Amino acid sequence: MSATKKSSSANTSKAMGEFDLIEHFFKEGAAKQGQDESVSLGIGDDCALLNISRNNHLAISTDMLVEGRHFLVGADPHWLGRKCLAVNLSDLAAMGAKPVGFTLAIAMPSVNAQWLAEFSKGLFEIAQEFNCRLIGGDTTAGPLTISITIFGEVPPSKALRRNQAQVGDDIWVSHQVGDARLALGAMRHEWSLTESEMKSVSQRMHNPSPRVELGQALLDVAHSAIDVSDGLLGDLTHILSQSNVCAEVAIDEVPASDVLKSKSIELRRLCTLMGGDDYELCFTAPAENAEQIEKISIQLDIRLTRIGKITSSKTTRDTSGNLAGVLRLLDQEGHELPPELSSQYLKSFDHFK
Ligand code: ADP
Ligand code: MG
Repeated sequence: MSATKKSSSANTSKAMGEFDLIEHFFKEGAAKQGQDESVSLGIGDDCALLNISRNNHLAISTDMLVEGRHFLVGADPHWLGRKCLAVNLSDLAAMGAKPVGFTLAIAMPSVNAQWLAEFSKGLFEIAQEFNCRLIGGDTTAGPLTISITIFGEVPPSKALRRNQAQVGDDIWVSHQVGDARLALGAMRHEWSLTESEMKSVSQRMHNPSPRVELGQALLDVAHSAIDVSDGLLGDLTHILSQSNVCAEVAIDEVPASDVLKSKSIELRRLCTLMGGDDYELCFTAPAENAEQIEKISIQLDIRLTRIGKITSSKTTRDTSGNLAGVLRLLDQEGHELPPELSSQYLKSFDHFK
């Protein structure tokens, strides 16, 4: 998940980023625990999948929000209540799973009844909207931290995984991306927005819309999916590396709001390609399913835009783990961006870099 504010402390090993440390300290250890037939999918995707019955797999995901890191100090508790569940629902959406329930672990510095009333109002509002029950949790004193584990169900072998993209697939993105980053940049005084622009784009940062229905509609239609939490290109590269494929993306086709479209092309690209916190779905699907996808778009009233293609199987990957050569970025004229520029856009959000 993305962060609202980058940490200034650099006490973590420089070379090791978030994904490297998960790989080294947790994924390798989990792999050594060996296979278990009840674990259908372990670490590495938006959710894990457990075989719980012949009819359904259990999809599980945890996301944590830390004050000063994922949300600003003093954030509105009602929006926070909504957002902490929304980001978890978004991981279920990315697998095409139907929400069932969640647990809530919360640490807070002191008991503030008014804050808690507003927080829980927001939380239950969205829980009702998505028919997802609170089934337990843990409460303790400490720096404000909210961690939710969510459970969903998905028919066996149907879940949308990151490792199933295929050559010839179109790459799609739902609704539009970049507004959350545009709002965050204005709050950080990186650029300025008018009051009405800010009002319109900040909604997307405070109150993201998890695409739960869309994920389920795509179960028999898409090959792979991910939710855009850390930035479109960074998240897409997770699909590419896990599926061992290369892709090209027409970067100026990436859908943006009218406010973002009114800004410079550089700002628009930065927000749409690298901005986190959008919680839209990026998915790949065979070209022949395009018509079906257009129908889903109309049915659910969610704009779905084709932004690129899976072009070939991957033949090389440099040892530094860089995805150079795997994702070609094309401008409006169909020309490939110079390497300096494209490598800048390919940097995804990492909590330790
Ligand atoms: P997302 O952005 O979808 O929430 P992340 O990028 O946070 O996913 O995590 C990538 C993968 O690594 C996920 O499968 C997640 O479950 C797993 N993961 C993250 N942190 C840990 C950890 N501390 N131990 C085990 N697995 C982890
Ligand atoms: Mg995710």
